[in-house]
Amino acid sequence: MKRKTLLLINPANQLRQGFIVNRITRNQPLSLGIIAALTPSDWKIKILDENFRPFRFYEADLVGITAFTSAAARAYQLAALYRERGIKTVMGGIHASMVPEESLQFVDSVVQGEAEPIWEQVIRDFEQGKLQRLYKSSFAREIRQPKPRRELFHPGYVSASIQTTRGCPMNCSFCSVSAFNGQHYRFRPVEDILDELEEIPQKYVFFIDDNIIGESRESKERARQLFEGIIRRGIKKYWLSQASINFADDEDLLKLAYLSGCRMIFLGIEAETEDQLKEANKNLNLSRGTESYNEVFRKIQRNGIGVIAGLIFGWDSDAPETIAKRARFAVNCGADSFQISVLTPLPGTKLFEKIASENRLLYTNFPADWQRYDYFEPTIQHPSMQTEQLYRLIEKAKRRIFAPLQILKTGVKTLIRTRRYHAALMQAFNYWHYRNIFLKGK
Ligand code: SF4
Repeated sequence: MKRKTLLLINPANQLRQGFIVNRITRNQPLSLGIIAALTPSDWKIKILDENFRPFRFYEADLVGITAFTSAAARAYQLAALYRERGIKTVMGGIHASMVPEESLQFVDSVVQGEAEPIWEQVIRDFEQGKLQRLYKSSFAREIRQPKPRRELFHPGYVSASIQTTRGCPMNCSFCSVSAFNGQHYRFRPVEDILDELEEIPQKYVFFIDDNIIGESRESKERARQLFEGIIRRGIKKYWLSQASINFADDEDLLKLAYLSGCRMIFLGIEAETEDQLKEANKNLNLSRGTESYNEVFRKIQRNGIGVIAGLIFGWDSDAPETIAKRARFAVNCGADSFQISVLTPLPGTKLFEKIASENRLLYTNFPADWQRYDYFEPTIQHPSMQTEQLYRLIEKAKRRIFAPLQILKTGVKTLIRTRRYHAALMQAFNYWHYRNIFLKGK
C-alpha cells in the first residue's frame, strides 16, 4: 500500500522580505519537527519552510500549517491551493490558536493549543475519514515532547532551535505568550533536553524559550540543572536565549550559563521610562528602576555574555521627544545589539482587546491585513501623533541605532566587555541581522 504523505508548511509573510534577507539567522520551525515526530512512522513527511526557500507545490494527502499572525494570510492562501484539489488542511500554531473561528473559514481543521496531546488523534481521525473541525488541548504540567525530526529540516540552518520551557509568569500587555503557552512556567525534563542537545549537529543553538530562567526559585534551580548538565556531559555548543532582567541577579548562575555555552541573551527592556513600562505592565523592570539597566548589562557582559536589548516604540504615552530619547538611550545604554519593534496589538493580547475596543486598529481588513501586524509599522491609531509622523520618527530612531558606525563601535565594546570572541561574533551577526530586518525589511 502506498504510504500517505504529510506536508508541513511554515509560511512566510509576503508583504516584507526583511525576515529572510539573512540566511545565517533563520530559525528552524521546531514545532513542525515535533509534529513530524508525533506522526506514525508509516507516513512520509516533508517540511517546507518558506522562510528558507520559496514555496513549491508538493503532492500530499494531508497538509499541516503553522503560522504567526503576520503569516496567517499566506497560510490561508497556501491552504486554498490544496483545498481546491480536495486535500485536507490542518492549521495550528499561535495565530490559529488565538483566532480559531477565523482560521476555520480557510482550513479544514484547527489544532488549538499544544499539539502533543492531540496530534495522534488528528492523524487517526483523518485516516478514518473523520477529521474534526476543532481539536483543543490544555496545558500539560510537564512538557513531554518527542525529539523533533531534525533530519527533515533543510541542512542549511546555521543554528538549531530547541525548547526547554514554555510559558511565562509575567503578563506583559503586548505579549501573547501567556495566552498561548500559559502563565504557569512549565519545564521539559532536563535529561531529555541534554539527550536532544547531544544529537544536534549545529554548533550554534537557540533556546527558543520565552524566558530561560523564569522568576521563581524552582525555575532558577531548573536552569542551574540544565546548565550543569550541559557542562557535565561535555556538550560544546554556543547558545542564545531570552530572559528577563533578573538573569543578571545570580552571579553563580551567570557563570554556569557562560560555561554551558551562553554567549548572547535577549532581554525585553521595552522602554527606559516608567510611563511606557506601566503601559506594558512590565512590572519586573519597573520594580528594579530603569537606571538599573546599565548595571544589569554590565554584570552579564562581565561573565562573557552579550546582551540584545528589545525596545518598543509607539506607546500611547510616547511623544516625539520620548522616541528620540529612547534612540539616545539605546546607543548609550551599553547593550550589544537591539531588537526594535513598533508596538503591535496581536490577537490574544490585552493590548489587542483594548485597542480594538477603542476602535483604534488602523487596519482591519483581516486576514489580508494581518501581514502588517509584524512590528514594522504602526497598526494602532496613536492618541497624539499622526501615523505618518510616528512612522517617520521610528524610522529615524532605527537609522540612528543601526548606523554602521554604531555597529562597529558596539562590536569593539562587546569584545572588550565580554573578552569573548564568540560573544563578539554573535553580536556582529545579530546586530547586522537586525539592521537588515529593520532597515531593509519594508
Ligand atoms: S514579554 Fe517576555 S516577560 Fe513579558 S510576558 Fe512575554 S515572554 Fe513574559
